[in-house]
Amino acid sequence: MHEMSIAQSLVDILREEMTRHQASTLKSVRLHLGQLSAIVPASLSFCFEVITAGTNLEGAELIMETIPLRAACRDCDASFDIENYVFKCPHCGSARIDTLSGQELSIVEMEVD
Ligand SMILES: [Zn+2]
Repeated sequence: MHEMSIAQSLVDILREEMTRHQASTLKSVRLHLGQLSAIVPASLSFCFEVITAGTNLEGAELIMETIPLRAACRDCDASFDIENYVFKCPHCGSARIDTLSGQELSIVEMEVD
């Protein structure tokens, strides 16, 4: 399960941010999960709880939002959301598309004390 390593790097980033802002407790963190990141939210929050148990990050709430996969067509320049994993331009039918977002995990905001 790759959520464990993702949760670990997430915790590393959060710790760094908290040090920079001299925060002592983390209340919540809002994340954007790309559809293609293949992250299972329940699994990520479980791993997060395991890693942060007994630390100053313990009890923080993970708020996760799945963001749609955006792509742009190289042939007609249209940009669109990819649905049902159909990697084809809905406007001209071309398969020459570039994905713009939806593969990443990003921290949108964190609430600290
Ligand atoms: Zn197109």
